[in-house]
Amino acid sequence: MIHNFNAGPSVLPREVFEQAAAAVLDFNNTGLSILEIGHRTPLFQPVMDEARALVKELMQLDDDHEVLFLHGGATTQFMQVPMNLLNQNELASYTETGTWANKAIKEARLFGHVEIAGSTKETRFTSIPENLSVSSTAVYLHITTNETIAGTQWHEIPYDCGVPLVADMSSDILSRTLDFNRFGIIYAGAQKNMGAAGVNLVIVNKNLLGRVQHPIPTILDYRNHIAEASMLNTPPVFAVYVVLLTLRWIKEQGGITVMDSRNKAKAELFYSTLDALPLFKGPVAKKDRSNMNAVFTMEDPALEAEFMTLCKKEGMTGIKGHRSVGGFRVSMYNALTIESVKALTDLMHSFAQQHG
Ligand SMILES: *Cc1c(COP(=O)(O)O)cnc(C)c1O
Repeated sequence: MIHNFNAGPSVLPREVFEQAAAAVLDFNNTGLSILEIGHRTPLFQPVMDEARALVKELMQLDDDHEVLFLHGGATTQFMQVPMNLLNQNELASYTETGTWANKAIKEARLFGHVEIAGSTKETRFTSIPENLSVSSTAVYLHITTNETIAGTQWHEIPYDCGVPLVADMSSDILSRTLDFNRFGIIYAGAQKNMGAAGVNLVIVNKNLLGRVQHPIPTILDYRNHIAEASMLNTPPVFAVYVVLLTLRWIKEQGGITVMDSRNKAKAELFYSTLDALPLFKGPVAKKDRSNMNAVFTMEDPALEAEFMTLCKKEGMTGIKGHRSVGGFRVSMYNALTIESVKALTDLMHSFAQQHG
């Protein structure tokens, strides 16, 4: 039995793997592989249409919000967002919450002025900023709703910051109920909660577009993708298909509210165990802990190595902490079952007993 706690690419539902594998050999009883059909065919077009429609349905998006599937990973959005929204003489507001936020900030500086509305750098990103100061002249405020490496998550979204809200949701997309229509732009790489690597979900409020003065290369201009219904060029066909299968699975399970309550139950089980066992330490402020990525350490590095060995023996994969943080990180995305979390917390209990 394998328990997959990988941070990304990461666990997906078993049914999704089975259906994706079958489609590689024979897509919808056509005798053709999903990998060998044209994207503008009556075979693939419904895949793209259904995937976009399901995102709209699951997230309850209004008609101002367009759903796009784009290439390039979330990292491309770090530059594509300011390229589409920000003029050189204008200001964008960013929150500095860790590695991913910093990468977004670096790219925004290529296009205009950037202010830091709130930062937790001083506490080594172990919390989420409390009082933001957002200039009313800012074109938008950017947040990273879940910092995959630091293990923090915005539980209170700053909807009322006074300017359009842009969010990198790469590691908590479709994992919790939010008021998605109150965001100007949402983007997420698919490979953490939503599918295979190679495609981005980008949700854009179209009213924000068309106000920058510099030229935007054709492929990077959101308006062109909207006009072509996310088929401006060849989309990552297979990656979009895997997203569609995952979206269908989420819908069958009962939608985002069901994901939300399952994810809360898993996080509650994990963190209550962490707090009950003094052998393990969680660096993140309790109120800002991520329900997706939990980070923890142990006081004694020798014990860390021993616990890691034990986890490996028990089939727990992907729990080594990010190289910049150390210790452990367990990712509990939508498709991770509570049984896997239970297996891990049981192991933590028995390990603590042995060393108590
Ligand atoms: C993984 C991740 C990214 C980077 O995604 P790529 O698809 O590798 O470009 C960006 N932001 C967050 C929050 C992430 O977790």
